[in-house]
Amino acid sequence: MNATNQKPAASPALSSASSAALSFVQALAAVTAQASLVLQQFSPASEMVSLADALGRVLAAPIRADRDQPPFDRATRDGYAVRAEDLQGVATGSPLRIVGQIRAGESWPAHRPALVTGEAVEIVTGAPLPPGANAVLMIEHAEEAAGTSADSANLRPVAGRTLLPGANIVPRASEAHAGDTLVAPGTRLGAPHIAVAASCGLSSLSVYARPRVAILATGDELVESELESEAAPIAAHQIYNSNSHSTAALVAQSGAIPLRLPIARDQRESLASGIRAALHPDRSADLLLLSGGVSMGKYDLVKEILADLGAEFFFTEVRIQPGKPLVFGRIPASDASPARYFFGLPGNPLSTMVTFALFAYPLLTALAGEREGQPFFAMARLTGDVRHAAGLTRFLPAWLDRAPKHAPGFSSGSAQLAEPTVTPISWHGSGDVAANARANCYLVAPEDQPILSAGTYVRILLR
Ligand code: AMP
Ligand code: MG
Repeated sequence: MNATNQKPAASPALSSASSAALSFVQALAAVTAQASLVLQQFSPASEMVSLADALGRVLAAPIRADRDQPPFDRATRDGYAVRAEDLQGVATGSPLRIVGQIRAGESWPAHRPALVTGEAVEIVTGAPLPPGANAVLMIEHAEEAAGTSADSANLRPVAGRTLLPGANIVPRASEAHAGDTLVAPGTRLGAPHIAVAASCGLSSLSVYARPRVAILATGDELVESELESEAAPIAAHQIYNSNSHSTAALVAQSGAIPLRLPIARDQRESLASGIRAALHPDRSADLLLLSGGVSMGKYDLVKEILADLGAEFFFTEVRIQPGKPLVFGRIPASDASPARYFFGLPGNPLSTMVTFALFAYPLLTALAGEREGQPFFAMARLTGDVRHAAGLTRFLPAWLDRAPKHAPGFSSGSAQLAEPTVTPISWHGSGDVAANARANCYLVAPEDQPILSAGTYVRILLR
């Protein structure tokens, strides 16, 4: 779209409503509302991919059961297919006669009669139950007398063992009936879904096209390491652009396609042309992620330029740290392009990453057609007291100890594992990328809870 042709009213959308700082929960609700709209109006392109390429993609057409699952009454133990009634009340364990064997991959020959009272068939896990049998007696629960002739009663169930009909069998169609939907469109495909597809005999799947995300870092101090030369090395007062790379990594990790643009400078022309380039129809970006230039400083021009392009703003500030100056909005549709969402992420590297995880991620997953894309929160037990100044919800770099440890009081080898614990790590604020790299989650300190006590459960944001 040629954004300069848009006729903007004077910064219309930077209204008082949108410029009021939202709480974390309000801001998340604003993003979720837009994500729901995106999903309602979703009409994306789809493509076929092989199972090998399906991991992390979003399913476009349902995976349906090709036949009943299991397709036959399946033995779940090695042992003997029997009639359960034959074992009822047999305190002494009356012997049974083994009349045959059935292995996985075999079927009971059509000409052979069904099992009758007193008969058993040797069976292995995964084999189909022969007709007439209704249970499997585990190999451990019977003794086969050696050296007896084929037609003698030579299988002796362990005394007192009874068996209910259906024992050690998964009946035909108990998992699914032919035609049932097993994985719904909008599901982000992981190994369990790929297992289902393969178990239905599929070798390829229909998935939605990946969203494309334009990434534009802004700042006069930024240097692109690829463009640095011996003749023009980085100066002490300059900063390498890390946000474009971290954002590209987060976008790729979210299953979308990152499109990194050249750095825009803190001047109106540079920013406007950077944003126009990001939104150019040839680039087909579905989302624009800017970083930097959204604070209150004289050279923080991102909001102004977006407003000049006719942008609608859902919020321009959120009471969180890292990440307070955070802009979320939409550029209206033009003849050449549909409406596009954008986030003006704050420039501090941790702010950029945290606000991506909290807000850009759920919108991006909706643009990908995923139904359940939300930030990854969990609970863990806090190892020490945490105090913070109330008024902002904080996301503190922290370490979630998820190594399995035995709970106190349980001997080694016990299945009882200790709960995961979380410990904040020391850091020097939103620019401390090194500390952030030593963390594996963020501890959430709510704005109305200045003290989090050791031993209590706290929320964490996983990444
Ligand atoms: P800003 O949001 O533009 O006020 O920037 C806040 C802080 O983040 C400043 O210290 C910037 O130098 C730093 N910063 C901004 N953009 C980037 C970037 N792309 N990579 C690394 N640091 C950045
Ligand atoms: Mg800046």
